[in-house]
Amino acid sequence: LNRRLAEFGTTIFAEMSALAVRTGSINLGQGFPDTDGPEEIREAAVRALRDGRGNQYPPGPGVPELRTAITAHQQRRYGLSYDPDTEVLVTAGATEAIAAALLALLEPGDEVVALEPYYDSYAACIAMAGGTRVPVTLRPSEGPRDGVAGRRFRLDLDELRAAVTDRTRLLLINTPHNPTGTVLTRAELTAIAELAVERDLLVVTDEVYEHLVFDDAEHLPLAGFPGMRERTLTIGSAGKTFSFTGWKVGWVTGTPGLVSAVRSAKQFLTYVNSGPFQYAVAEALSLPDSYFDAFRADMLVKRDVLAAGLRDAGFDVFTTAGTYFITTDIRPLGESDGFAFCRALPERAGVVAIPNAVFYDHREAGAPFVRFAFCKKVEVLEEAAKRLKGAF
Ligand code: PMP
Ligand code: GLN
Repeated sequence: LNRRLAEFGTTIFAEMSALAVRTGSINLGQGFPDTDGPEEIREAAVRALRDGRGNQYPPGPGVPELRTAITAHQQRRYGLSYDPDTEVLVTAGATEAIAAALLALLEPGDEVVALEPYYDSYAACIAMAGGTRVPVTLRPSEGPRDGVAGRRFRLDLDELRAAVTDRTRLLLINTPHNPTGTVLTRAELTAIAELAVERDLLVVTDEVYEHLVFDDAEHLPLAGFPGMRERTLTIGSAGKTFSFTGWKVGWVTGTPGLVSAVRSAKQFLTYVNSGPFQYAVAEALSLPDSYFDAFRADMLVKRDVLAAGLRDAGFDVFTTAGTYFITTDIRPLGESDGFAFCRALPERAGVVAIPNAVFYDHREAGAPFVRFAFCKKVEVLEEAAKRLKGAF
């Protein structure tokens, strides 16, 4: 393994999922649903396979049906207009979108300001692109832990401003935010947008959890803020919204110049991907609002079941405003090292979770936090809660 990648080794998700299998534990580590997405969308994929749509290389930017569905979705949900011919690129999941965007836009030595804790592929892809990451730490605010207006991981706008230097090429933003469950507020997004305009920065914004926002939180696409459309690449994924993480259908939207740059990198990573699944995702994006509402309502029930169980077991629980993850603080259990805690948890309780510290450069800032995924059947979450309560 070369020096750029040496520090990354194996992703925590593979490691923890293997641990879950080995120990027969309930896997609340890696974020994937234990219920597949809509039957009619699976049927759409089967139809595409049978009819010979997408069994050979699809067009480079993605099949027209999907590109049109992506732009129609952006228009319908957010009033954002993109040209399906020049402003959309279909990618092998959001993961490839992130990789291709960074590989396309960074020069060696360019700095990328990213919100810490961050999804693990960000650091690895910045490194592969020869960039330097500059983390800005989201910090728990004071106040009650319950409710969106209560205690949350918030962005310190002064720290963000201070992180930008003459070498900063882009801001890498993620909202709703994995792993903290924070949804950036209008005020935070406004400040990010103003900074990007003032310092003439590009912005890559990972919005894969756009449909998973709860209570009074609202997902606001960064591209919709003043001065942002022309400097922003927005990343989406069918894996999260439609519960088909194995299909690896993601996308980017942005100006023709930015999208064509990402496409240049994508050509030499995968060239194209997910032929028949692209047709199925086009149908999924065209589902009525009732699908998205029911999906969110179902996840909200799950969030509340797991949050109550974790609280009952003695964890301090941050209320998730978005995503399907709950971040907890283990200090009330008399623990302080999330790594050691998660390593021992399968043996102790038959449950697997992720230590948030893996998502930090400032490991100590993330040490007491542990992430649990709630995209699982209610009975699975209840069993996990029972086990945790029994163990602590
Ligand atoms: N970004 C974030 C914040 C994620 O949580 C994930 C999924 N784990 C991805 C990107 C990757 O998405 P995909 O599975 O579509 O590659
Ligand atoms: N995004 C998922 C998570 O955060 C897992 C993705 C992966 O395994 N690469 O848990």
